[in-house]
Amino acid sequence: MIVRVPDLTEEVRKVVFCEPAASLNDRIDASPGREDEHFVGDLEVDGELYRTEGDVHFSGSVGAQVRSVCSRCLEEFVWQLERDFSFVIVPAKAAEEPQDDEGIDHYSGDDLDLAPLVCEQALLALDLSLLCSDSCRGLCAGCGANLNVEECRCANR
Ligand SMILES: [Zn+2]
Ligand SMILES: [Zn+2]
Repeated sequence: MIVRVPDLTEEVRKVVFCEPAASLNDRIDASPGREDEHFVGDLEVDGELYRTEGDVHFSGSVGAQVRSVCSRCLEEFVWQLERDFSFVIVPAKAAEEPQDDEGIDHYSGDDLDLAPLVCEQALLALDLSLLCSDSCRGLCAGCGANLNVEECRCANR
């Protein structure tokens, strides 16, 4: 989703769009240790956009279905990711000036691509220590039985 900055005004404009799950999953696959989580549906973005002088204000929420592996029982489960965000995106300074405002997002030229911003928010909302449910009973340390669905076999040995 690319917006043209000169087209934006102080009037709030609704922006609703999707980012494909595949592009998010490519980024997950590129980061070691995260391959247990994948987006099963496209990222849905519901936001608002306006501009005050050079600064672009972009806020809203991202949502998507994510498949994770329970950190207790190691079974896969699907959950709904939701995260609110709020950005102020300022014009990039000339290259020779020091970029001292780390943590602030920049755009250069007239086009502003919203996709990297919302994808980053979605990836930040992933959580590697999720449980399939608060009452997940996990695996038996002795026999490895998934105690959610089967009996511990340790006593029968
Ligand atoms: Zn579990
Ligand atoms: Zn057991």
